[in-house]
This record gives sequence, C-alpha cells and structure tokens, in this order.
Amino acid sequence: MVKEINKHGDKYFQCESCSFFYKTKELAKRCEEWCTKHHSCNIEITKHAVEI
Ligand SMILES: [Zn+2]
Repeated sequence: MVKEINKHGDKYFQCESCSFFYKTKELAKRCEEWCTKHHSCNIEITKHAVEI
C-alpha cells in the first residue's frame, strides 16, 4: 500500500517497498507495483522521487 505522508504542509506518497517518496500518488503506485513485481527499482520511475 502506498503511504501518505504530510510534511511541512505538503503531501507526499511513499512506496512501501523501496521507501522512496513521490509528489503524486500515481508515481508512488507505479513504483510500488514495479518494486513488488520485479524486486528492483525502475530508474524511469525513481528519477521522479523526491527528498523530504
Ligand atoms: Zn518503490
């Protein structure tokens, strides 16, 4: 399940598999689906990850 995080008044979404944060639920979901299926990260998705 994608986790919703509130930090500094902004909303972020975390992939529970690799722990990366994203600004949209869509990206976090795509990441999690990929991570769960392939047990690795997709650079096309993780490049959208943000630091919080
Ligand atoms: Zn992930």
